[in-house]
Amino acid sequence: MSIGVDIVRGQAIQSIGDAGHIDRLTIMTDSRKSVASGLFVPLVGANFNGHQFLKQAILSGAVAALWMEREPLPDLLPADFPVFFVRDTLTALQSMAKSYLNQVRPKIIAVTGSNGKTTTKDMIFSILSQTFRTAKTQGNLNNHIGVPLTILSMAEDTQVLVLEMGMNHFGELTFLSQMAKPDIAIITNIGESHIEYLGSREGIAKAKLEIVNGLKKRGTLILDGDEPLLANIQTYAYQIVRCGFGVQNNWCIADIVESVDGSRFSLNNQKDYFRIPVLGKHNVRNAVLSFAAARIMGADMETIRYGLEHLHVTKLRFQKVDGLNGSLLIEDCYNASPSSMIASLETLKKLPGFKRRVAVLGDMYELGKNEKNQHKSIAKSLTAPLTHVITIGEKGAWIADGLRETGGDQTIDVRSYETKAAAHAYLKSLLDDQTVMLFKASRLLKLEELSAGLRAKE
Ligand code: ATP
Ligand code: MG
Repeated sequence: MSIGVDIVRGQAIQSIGDAGHIDRLTIMTDSRKSVASGLFVPLVGANFNGHQFLKQAILSGAVAALWMEREPLPDLLPADFPVFFVRDTLTALQSMAKSYLNQVRPKIIAVTGSNGKTTTKDMIFSILSQTFRTAKTQGNLNNHIGVPLTILSMAEDTQVLVLEMGMNHFGELTFLSQMAKPDIAIITNIGESHIEYLGSREGIAKAKLEIVNGLKKRGTLILDGDEPLLANIQTYAYQIVRCGFGVQNNWCIADIVESVDGSRFSLNNQKDYFRIPVLGKHNVRNAVLSFAAARIMGADMETIRYGLEHLHVTKLRFQKVDGLNGSLLIEDCYNASPSSMIASLETLKKLPGFKRRVAVLGDMYELGKNEKNQHKSIAKSLTAPLTHVITIGEKGAWIADGLRETGGDQTIDVRSYETKAAAHAYLKSLLDDQTVMLFKASRLLKLEELSAGLRAKE
């Protein structure tokens, strides 16, 4: 890659490529990760300063570095090691991403929403990568650092780039959207995540809609057409494609059938079925959003059908794992918010063929002042055929409080534990071939550490 010239003092960086001896540099921000030929971009965060790790970056393969003007250079720098001074390394990273995008010019599909971004992105990739040279966000690199890093990591001949875009505050999506200039933007849903910074669900909807601020002319916005807060968008600037269960949608989901292996559904009452290897109505929604994006990209029905059916699921998202004594564990511990927890519980209740349905639910973070009530609100989904609810952690216990306060379903056995370790023995005692056990909590709780001890021995 020859790196763009429009960054601060970027001329110098261009010369790396022009010098000939290095024609492809991998952008690296983490000095611990080994690369073949790296341009080290030291970032400065609240608790770290990347400039301190240059030596390690060189050991990991850096052959050049950007450097903030105000930071002192370390002593004993290798004599032939080029260092390029910029006012701000993060801004430089973002500028490089923009100019690299201009060079490669792939079609851009940007996915945002409170929940389902990663899943939808993976589904779109699974469909489009059959026909186009497609790149996507790795894991969850979806913010002002992750998006430029993703852009800079795509191959020079990329035709389609699927970008996950996350946000916590107003203005962030405008920034990301204007950086990437999507052809297609997707809003998967409006939930409650980050409500502490955005005030209300209306605020969340407004912040998500910022994704159109960089949308290309004649671009398309695909959205959750069942969400009232997204129902009244009036615009001639871009097309809107609505997806969901209601009849008002352009793509309307019908005939969902769920089994332990996944779901089957049809669209607009046509006879053909689509299958996805993941459970839950919410994933059918994600599949339809992906379908809509793929149609705009010109994918045919067979390609879409194959891509959805052969979706590779990212770890810890409603992942089915064999548990002890013939039981089934569902590890959905990547993250949680009230809307995603409820979506998972509804799926757990519908799984056919289990006598004992156990929900292991833990703390949810970033819910703001109203966090106690948000936890308690989960109680409305704690109904038969659930048989056991086990909460983990201090905030998780509010979920059980909610159930008790509402009088709740008396048939459900409810217990609360302060720690994962304390819950282990009881959970183990519930496992047999009639049991399905769901694990769901915020990332910080690392609930997979608890389920790991309950997996079937290999
Ligand atoms: P993050 O903000 O952590 O990056 P994300 O938006 O990428 O999350 P995923 O990782 O795809 O979301 O899914 C996280 C969880 O959200 C899933 O395990 C599921 O429980 C729930 N979920 C997924 N899609 C939806 C949806 N469309 N509506 C509601 N909940 C959903
Ligand atoms: Mg994600």
